[in-house]
Amino acid sequence: MGRLEVIAGPMFAGKTEELVRRVHRAQVARRGVLVVGHELDTRSGPGRVASHSGLEVPSRSVGEAGQILALVADGTELVAVDEAQFFGPDLVDVATALADAGLVVVVAGLSVTFDGRAFQPVADLVAVAESVTKLTAVCAVCGRDAAFHVRLEAVPTGDDDALAPTSGHVGGAESYEARCRRHRHG
Ligand code: ADP
Ligand code: MG
Repeated sequence: MGRLEVIAGPMFAGKTEELVRRVHRAQVARRGVLVVGHELDTRSGPGRVASHSGLEVPSRSVGEAGQILALVADGTELVAVDEAQFFGPDLVDVATALADAGLVVVVAGLSVTFDGRAFQPVADLVAVAESVTKLTAVCAVCGRDAAFHVRLEAVPTGDDDALAPTSGHVGGAESYEARCRRHRHG
């Protein structure tokens, strides 16, 4: 019988590492595996799903959730999808259809936005999954468990390296940091 497994958490929580671990185990077991990334995932780049620590696995890249269905071949037993937040709400129906059809579907993605809100479609996938693994990162300020991440933007102090957390949407040089509950506001 098929099943849906969700790997959720903030950035740097090890979601991709866990996805790659499950893919490797399935490959050891000689299962037919399809790994899917999104064309918008510019960090991994096309043709691979990559973790911040350098673990990677070859993947197919698509622009829409519906395109995943056409990539499933005879013999595909496990479908692994990384960066679920890029796929939008359609991923819920696609993942459900694949699991209903008997496949193991592993979906990893952000469960929380950089301003601390539920992030779809992971929140909805959690509702219909057999298994949910919620991971935390390490707070960049204090080292405690981090269930959040913040977007840092360069602030105009004259110091190019000056970064401050923000919940705004102003463009510019930016990066992200994992933060615990206490430090997610600064
Ligand atoms: P995710 O897919 O959840 O963003 P990855 O699997 O890509 O996470 O990366 C996890 C790895 O990132 C960790 O094993 C560690 O090497 C590295 N890393 C860098 N910063 C942090 C952090 N603040 N907390 C935890 N891991 C971090
Ligand atoms: Mg990742």
